[in-house]
Amino acid sequence: MTSIPQTPSPRTTDVISRALLALLLLAPPLSAQLVWPDEEGPWTPRPTQPAIVANDLRTRLGILAHDSMMGREAGTLGAFKASAYIAAEFQRMGLLPGGDNGSYFQELPLGPTGFDLLASRLAIGGTTLKPGSDWIPMNPSAPNGIVGTFAGRNITVVYGGVWGDTTTQLPASVKGKAVVFAQPPAPPAAAGRRAAGLARDRRAEQAGAALVLLAGLDQMNPALVANAFNRRIAMRPSTDAPSTGIPGAIISVATARSLFGDKHHDELTIGMAGSRISGNWKHQWTMAQYPARNVVGIVPGTDPLLRNQYVALSAHHDHVGVIPASQAIEHDSLRAFNTVMRPQGANDRPGPPSAGQWAEINALVARARSIRPPRIDSVFNGADDDGSGTAVLMEVAEQFAAGPAPKRSVLILSVTGEEKGLLGSRWWVDHPTVPLDSVVSAHNMDMLGKGRVTDVQFGGPAAIQMLGSRRLSSEFGDIIDSVNAVRSEPMVIDYSWDRTNKLNRFCRSDQVSFFSKEIPVTYFSLGYSRDYHQLTDEVQYIDFEHGARVGRFVHEIMTTVGNRPERIRVLPLAERDMSAQCGR
Ligand SMILES: [Zn+2]
Repeated sequence: MTSIPQTPSPRTTDVISRALLALLLLAPPLSAQLVWPDEEGPWTPRPTQPAIVANDLRTRLGILAHDSMMGREAGTLGAFKASAYIAAEFQRMGLLPGGDNGSYFQELPLGPTGFDLLASRLAIGGTTLKPGSDWIPMNPSAPNGIVGTFAGRNITVVYGGVWGDTTTQLPASVKGKAVVFAQPPAPPAAAGRRAAGLARDRRAEQAGAALVLLAGLDQMNPALVANAFNRRIAMRPSTDAPSTGIPGAIISVATARSLFGDKHHDELTIGMAGSRISGNWKHQWTMAQYPARNVVGIVPGTDPLLRNQYVALSAHHDHVGVIPASQAIEHDSLRAFNTVMRPQGANDRPGPPSAGQWAEINALVARARSIRPPRIDSVFNGADDDGSGTAVLMEVAEQFAAGPAPKRSVLILSVTGEEKGLLGSRWWVDHPTVPLDSVVSAHNMDMLGKGRVTDVQFGGPAAIQMLGSRRLSSEFGDIIDSVNAVRSEPMVIDYSWDRTNKLNRFCRSDQVSFFSKEIPVTYFSLGYSRDYHQLTDEVQYIDFEHGARVGRFVHEIMTTVGNRPERIRVLPLAERDMSAQCGR
């Protein structure tokens, strides 16, 4: 049915305009309206004060989680800028440099590693093959004796049978040749992780061949193929990487056929020769242009003897960077989806939403659209993870620097590379800038921004999730509990994660590095939220009052530990809780 337009009567117009006026008066101005209940408006940075307060955290995190920090990936400009800001603040506060060579920094040997597309080539006769679709180089692999560098001309190819069929011997004629292997059919159980070269096979290397060519490209995970020439950021390879072995490439079945006069491998016999190939590639690690750096500052203790011992505080300033603009996602749609489907962000792998869940998601998106236009996002700002812990770390440092300092010295460690495997904290404990046995306790903070009742289970304005406090030293846990018992603003400590180690929680942040060196360590966190490792982990959703409260709590614990006449006792081996298997 089509409705006929009507001219409103004067009376109707009057009613409408009065209703509209009432609505306009009730509603905040459109620009100040916020989409999400936990969202804050913009904040203007201002000078910080010694006390650990929410507004200082707003200023600090506004800088750390800004788009200009580009997601703070270790080994990139973003994390480099973040580390520069932190060091400048340490200096301004009056912390002593605690890094290498009298500086605040400790550089990690971290940088891009992989194959350079432009410098990689494989050709049959005079025909250059197309990298990515015809072939990709094999990554260096010690188990398969594969090295990352190849340079050869006019090498004859020889058929070598099926890869991994180690019961069949290769003929001596493969010496100096390029051996082409057929990819074995993937067993059904391994169908999910079909990776070419998974089976161990060193026959070609042992027979003195020059090159391995595995016809497995068609069966490979397309994402792995697409990334074959993308360099990733990794630690400098250790010297026990394979220095002997032979290079390899993974080729398509079509390429393999063209090497043998268009014959399928079923028609070939082992030892049969084909065309000649030439090529070159090189797997290379280089130091990052913008080095990944731990930032280390010290507040000297007041006692002439105890000041040679340290109470350590750590948080990681790195995050996971950016995604290509082509993969950018609309912010409010993603947050709507995760609000309904993934309350713990990347930890949750839900199936497709039900009709009811889609209705909820669409309602949230519609509400967002009624307030602001779509916002395409490609920066992982890492406001909660772990911009929040880093901002609190700087606040605690500022408070200690202003005094009073405890009898023991305070070691402030803003570590990098956590997201790449706890690299910065591991590097520090393996290359400590103060004697490792002088560190009496460590306090690690990761994700101090989202502890509301709407964010996490057992959340609330004073909630804190704590892990590890009694694993190496029951005394450490007792001290924390007794500090908390008499505070004017007590915390509500949630030990449930420590008891269950659900999601392998204890092993997933920098406490592991201290634990591995038998340093009593406690992990402080407000928990995983819907924004965990999502593009939506942005500063406007952080609960700064909560973070400041945790900062004051940690400051008081460190002061207590730092002032005790005796250092914290580490439990005898048999009494330690080693139940968390962190694989180190
Ligand atoms: Zn983290």
